[in-house]
Amino acid sequence: SDDPRTALLHRVEADQVAFINLQFTDVLGIGKTVTIPVEELPDALDHGVWFDGSSIEGFARMVESDMYLVPDISTYAVVPWDQHQGVTTARLICSVYTPDGKPFAGDPRNVLRRMLDQAAAAGYRFMVAPELEFFLFKTDPNGNILEPHDKASYFDISTDLATHIRRQMARTLQAMGIAVEAVHHEVAPGQHEIDLRYADALQSADHLVTARVALKAVAQMNGLHATFMPKPIAGVNGSGMHVHQSLLDRDTGKNLFADPDDPYGLSALARHFIAGLLAHARGMCALLAPLVNSYKRLVPGFEAPVYISWGRTNRSALVRVPRITAGRYQATRIELRCPDPACNPYLAYTAMLAAGLDGIRRKLPLRDATEEDLFHVDPRARGLTTLPTSLGSALDALREDEVILEAIGPSIAERFLDARQQEWESYRAYVSQWEIERYLAIF
Ligand code: GLN
Ligand code: MG
Ligand code: MG
Ligand code: MG
Repeated sequence: SDDPRTALLHRVEADQVAFINLQFTDVLGIGKTVTIPVEELPDALDHGVWFDGSSIEGFARMVESDMYLVPDISTYAVVPWDQHQGVTTARLICSVYTPDGKPFAGDPRNVLRRMLDQAAAAGYRFMVAPELEFFLFKTDPNGNILEPHDKASYFDISTDLATHIRRQMARTLQAMGIAVEAVHHEVAPGQHEIDLRYADALQSADHLVTARVALKAVAQMNGLHATFMPKPIAGVNGSGMHVHQSLLDRDTGKNLFADPDDPYGLSALARHFIAGLLAHARGMCALLAPLVNSYKRLVPGFEAPVYISWGRTNRSALVRVPRITAGRYQATRIELRCPDPACNPYLAYTAMLAAGLDGIRRKLPLRDATEEDLFHVDPRARGLTTLPTSLGSALDALREDEVILEAIGPSIAERFLDARQQEWESYRAYVSQWEIERYLAIF
């Protein structure tokens, strides 16, 4: 059989690909691409592709702007929505390298790979499954965004206008090698969810970056706008990106979170991992919920977490332990509910894994589960602390979390904190319509 390089070149020929998009992401998780004609591919595989990284958010200063894109052959996929007049385009996800052949520390994908290598050295494989929520909005012929696409609610059939669009989205993802577990209408008008199947964290992060672009493309083909903005409409549910996670034994693939004799079905390792997630919840929140707007989702009453708690209760827990079908121990997992779909998935997964591993390393004890609906009890009486209530306080908490800062590395940390702090300052200085309506006439 062929070596991977030769196999790829054969596939590209069989698919009659004319162009290859070489894809990577900036520090904020925005997908970037450089397109090469297919004739350049062999050279790109052998030597990487040079680009000037100086204008990429969070990449280099002018003096050190030479970068190389090194394609990951296993990420090859034809881009289904980019078939134009018989011209086929494929994409390869790349890692960014410096001219002296080292993984560039400012590339979020490299940061996650380094974290996964650390986990592997300790004997673990980190598996994740994200639930991607988003809204569909109508657009006018000029592309202006109008009202939500439909008025349907959770799992509705009769008023759901997007059943065919969700199927088209699922097919598009499947065509790109992204396994979809289920799709459904979510609670808010025009809101939907696509659940991706369990995968290795690196693959899952690649899938998420692709899925966000794919879903926008499919929406556009239907005259709609897909948004991953965490809270596009005040007063109704926002969009989260719950992440189911577990550690497998690196060698045997056995699920290390499972203990059938425990009341929650969790091993001691899983409990330490959860304790780590809770201990670093505030410190990693800015990476998981990265926008000013993210903190308008993390408020009581909309099925989003507010308090740093764990349990089986679906609605208010930060970490939830899903019930598994009797005997299916391999499916044991925990669900972290504060991330939202605007995050950089490479950095978000890096932070979660670093937090969990820190809990394991320090053997952090896990506090008791909280099973009441926290929207209806006084959490302070139970000694529960809260997630940060604004991007500003989340950034402050990140600055104080050595474990998370070390996991993402100083160069990403500096660029991320700079970019987000600027965004926060800009928001702080803005006078909103809410304030005008509330104060102008009275004071
Ligand atoms: N949309 C909710 C959130 O913000 C989650 C709702 C659900 O999936 N049950 O996280
Ligand atoms: Mg769900
Ligand atoms: Mg949901
Ligand atoms: Mg969920």
